[in-house]
Amino acid sequence: MMPIIERYFREAHLDYDIYQTSGHQDAITAARKAAEEGFNIVVAAGGDGTVNEVLNGIVGSGAALAAIHGGKGNDFAVSVDMPKEAEAVCRVLEKAEIKMIDLGKVLGRHFINSVGVGFDATVAMRVNRGVRPLNGVSAYIYAVFETLLTYRPVEMEIELGDGTRLKQRPMLVAVGIGRTYGGGMMILPEAIQDDGLLDICVFDQMSNLALAYHFPKVYSGKHVELKEAVLYRSTEIALRLSKQCPLHMEGEILFGNQMHFTIEPKAMPVVVGSMF
Ligand SMILES: [Mg+2]
Repeated sequence: MMPIIERYFREAHLDYDIYQTSGHQDAITAARKAAEEGFNIVVAAGGDGTVNEVLNGIVGSGAALAAIHGGKGNDFAVSVDMPKEAEAVCRVLEKAEIKMIDLGKVLGRHFINSVGVGFDATVAMRVNRGVRPLNGVSAYIYAVFETLLTYRPVEMEIELGDGTRLKQRPMLVAVGIGRTYGGGMMILPEAIQDDGLLDICVFDQMSNLALAYHFPKVYSGKHVELKEAVLYRSTEIALRLSKQCPLHMEGEILFGNQMHFTIEPKAMPVVVGSMF
């Protein structure tokens, strides 16, 4: 993919630079530097983890974010209709049609798609550690079943922007700008990327057998028809957990027991595909 893109950019006489990241968090610094040098688009080529690092590097700079399919999960690239084929990617980047998208923030870090606390974060933590020799969807499904055997839900106090308070021990709480995470799980099927609101799914406990049976429904968003899934929309949400828990954010695992989610409406310029 990259040699084709580079040849296209060179022949089109576009001003570009290519940086190869060398490790975790490296893309944050590299993207910030690119924005400071005056590049008006920073392209993340490497999946949702890279997208999250790039956006945290360029947030507030005015530079636009673009995403090329390239990692285990490409949920963000899909959400903005980025094509997979190299020539089409080049045309989209050259055209540079920009749309302003909401940004979420929690635990001091920005996100542009969806994050989760609870069962899904525990699965993501396992996937991040590596489920060899599996990858992609099969690694996720393996980690889901492995986590099912040991997972104990944590007590949470959930407070929404309008003052609504819930106290329960849910299986998971997902919060998002976009609809999917984890490589195509449509956890928030009604989320709108620029409505100034966070979509929230509080998924209550069910038996392991029921969870194993209903799990595939998350890929089509049909899980929201279950009585265990309740959706909310809010400008903010606070989670107070009975103990320190992982949160998965676009490939990154963060930890906390007090999580305050906020939204910055239309805060990130994003290059979108032609069908957006
Ligand atoms: Mg929204």
